Amino acid sequence: MTATIKKTVSLLLCAAILCCATVPVLAGDEGCKCGFSPIIYVGPLGCTPIVRDAGTENEQTLWKTDTKFLLSNLRAVMPELTKSLLTHNTELLGDALAEFVLACFGDLALDAEGSSKENVTTPELNVPEGDRHGPEYDYYFDYDFRLDPYEHADRLHAFIRQVKALTGHDSVKLKCSSMGGVVLSAYLDKYGYDGIDVIICRCCPLWGTAVAGEAFCGRLELNAEALTRYAADAVPFLETGFADDFIEGSLYALLAVLKGAGVMDGLCALGDAVIRAAGEKVYRKAMIPIFGSLPGIWAFVPQEYFDDAVRLMHVPDEGGLHDKIFAYRNAMAHVADRLTNAKKDGVRICIICGYNVQRTPLVTLWRSTSDGTVDTKYASLGATCADVRETLDDSYLSALENKDYLSPDNMVDASTCVLPDCTWFVRNWLHCNGNTGIDALFDLVMTSGDVSVNAFERFPQFLEADDDTDTVYPVTGAPDALERLKAHPSYLNFIRFLVSVVRRLLQAPDAVMHCVRALRERAESAAIIQGRQA
Ligand SMILES: [Zn+2]
Repeated sequence: MTATIKKTVSLLLCAAILCCATVPVLAGDEGCKCGFSPIIYVGPLGCTPIVRDAGTENEQTLWKTDTKFLLSNLRAVMPELTKSLLTHNTELLGDALAEFVLACFGDLALDAEGSSKENVTTPELNVPEGDRHGPEYDYYFDYDFRLDPYEHADRLHAFIRQVKALTGHDSVKLKCSSMGGVVLSAYLDKYGYDGIDVIICRCCPLWGTAVAGEAFCGRLELNAEALTRYAADAVPFLETGFADDFIEGSLYALLAVLKGAGVMDGLCALGDAVIRAAGEKVYRKAMIPIFGSLPGIWAFVPQEYFDDAVRLMHVPDEGGLHDKIFAYRNAMAHVADRLTNAKKDGVRICIICGYNVQRTPLVTLWRSTSDGTVDTKYASLGATCADVRETLDDSYLSALENKDYLSPDNMVDASTCVLPDCTWFVRNWLHCNGNTGIDALFDLVMTSGDVSVNAFERFPQFLEADDDTDTVYPVTGAPDALERLKAHPSYLNFIRFLVSVVRRLLQAPDAVMHCVRALRERAESAAIIQGRQA
């Protein structure tokens, strides 16, 4: 091909691309009169698969990967693993575990510029298609969670423009789930909130999550109480497909027994010993090189952990990766201001987060109340929260002048939130778990002119998630297993009630001993009387 032909061909190609790009814009110019701007759903971490060698015979999904791949990697390190356990060689154990983690996740690591390996890609990323919009539909924005959140912000910017053009609306609604809030924070930092009329943050780590902060600072600990509660909280979500209620109830009881018998403590002591002995090696050889190289995961590290984490994770002093890891600090530092200004300018905002769920039992901060993954204080932008399953202490409560934002169970004070009037709390709501009651709140947020915790009778600031009925109802007082059993008499709730009774008895051993003593005295005096009568 001569240079002229090449030039002509490329000019024609450019013209063709421009034509294609302008068609939706023309459609948009007519404008849609439906009155409901389209929803863009910004998905959570793992919203799209990350694949190695996509389209070849060696294709392997690295995230979320399959059991077969994990097992084959485990099989490869089995000889070392067995040997290390038989000989109590923790050095060898560390090596084997690190090798396993590297084989499973090593290719997810980014390079010194913060870019992915060329053969590791997200082949299924969505592009907006069609003009269907309304309360029932959304355009799903997905992304490679490993990358710099500002790269997603750029893509989201183009995505929003495409959706506007396709639907003929000049604004959109952003509904963000979990890590979607990270993408949102970067977007607001770089592009502002022009052309956005609703922002929903569902369980978003807007100020990070303690799990990431603690893990990146090496503060790991297994705790028996936390492990038991964590497992118990997960039980209702098991789907065995056969007599679920009975199986769940039995597992729940089993967990309570295991905890009571000290099995959980033993398991944790074992876990702690392994973490101490082999953990350092796994951290150095696998965790730091893989997860420490992902700006997306760095975006979960709360500000107060960041400097310590940078030291422990050996972030390079300069270069693309360094810049990407540090850049997001700006987004996190300013998200509160951006949302405050957006609200002042009429953007309807709904921040909603869970509380009172036992969080991941692996970190030292296991008492921090959360939805199991994201701490309530970080997702709510600043609520004052009691430890999980506890209430705020008396001195705090008595000093609190404005009790309008205090939860009826005394667990959360929302008055310290950045946007107390637009922040909802759902007790016992597991991270991002689907709930039609909460979806109904979102519908109201998206269709009402006034969005605040006092605007909707059915949805006051503090709600409780009820998985039995797949809905939410207002919190009126402390969690009560008996009330729950009365409302929904299932086997699982019966076991929950029994466990709560036993737990209450164990928490008050003096009272139990007093009862035992009183009974014994009564029995003895009865025996004496009988003896006399005889
Ligand atoms: Zn429309």
